[in-house]
Amino acid sequence: MLELHNVEVTYSDVILALKGVSLSLREGQCVALLGGNGAGKSTILKAISGTLKSEDGKVSAGAITLEGTPIHNLEASEVVRRGLIHVMEGRRVLRHMTAEQNLIVGGHMVPDRAELKRRLDHVYTLMPRLANLKSRTAGFMSGGEQQLLLIGRAMMARPKIIAIDEPSLGLAPLMIHDVYEVLSRLKEEGTTFFLVEQNSAAGLGLADYAYVLENGRVVLDGRADKLAQNEDVKEFYLGVT
Ligand code: ATP
Repeated sequence: MLELHNVEVTYSDVILALKGVSLSLREGQCVALLGGNGAGKSTILKAISGTLKSEDGKVSAGAITLEGTPIHNLEASEVVRRGLIHVMEGRRVLRHMTAEQNLIVGGHMVPDRAELKRRLDHVYTLMPRLANLKSRTAGFMSGGEQQLLLIGRAMMARPKIIAIDEPSLGLAPLMIHDVYEVLSRLKEEGTTFFLVEQNSAAGLGLADYAYVLENGRVVLDGRADKLAQNEDVKEFYLGVT
């Protein structure tokens, strides 16, 4: 469904952040990207969602295809239109709007009010906590609630692929559990996921397949359950020795 072929990414024409990355994501799969700080995980998500330009970055070699069509030269809004939504790291809710207004913004391309209502209902069914908080100003919600809201906002566009960056960052363990529960339900409903996680145990739990990145290159890849048993992965990414 989504393929990267020998992708290089350069920032400000000088910093080579990805040095020839190839990977693929099949329909219905969850693929996790693991790796330490600066390995290039977020850069991969920005490259696929067309958001590198705002940071003076570009795909300087290779190709990214979505359902066979090259997307690496497209504007971010066009990538969204084709069904790929990037939920960025560092919570970016619209702080002065209510939770429900945030969701409606996520559904801005839905032309039909009845359909908009159906999508809101779907979000609230999956996340009853958001239903209870729909009138709350988003800036006053907890970190975990804001993360759920961002997932809900992405759902409003009915994406084929959600590329999500560090959904557990800064959250308490119970909240991480809730966030992953929602991601897992969405996966069961057929959403394809590209997941970046420093919390590799949570990420590998949801993922079918994973790639480990180091210094802009893929150094290891395989089925997530197999990687979770790999001694190097356990030592460096799962904190188990
Ligand atoms: P982290 O978990 O710390 O976010 P990461 O694996 O997501 O790490 P990236 O953020 O993709 O790593 O960074 C990859 C490389 O690109 C790093 O060397 C980083 O310093 C560099 N880089 C990232 N963003 C920019 C930018 N806007 N301008 C210049 N260099 C950047």
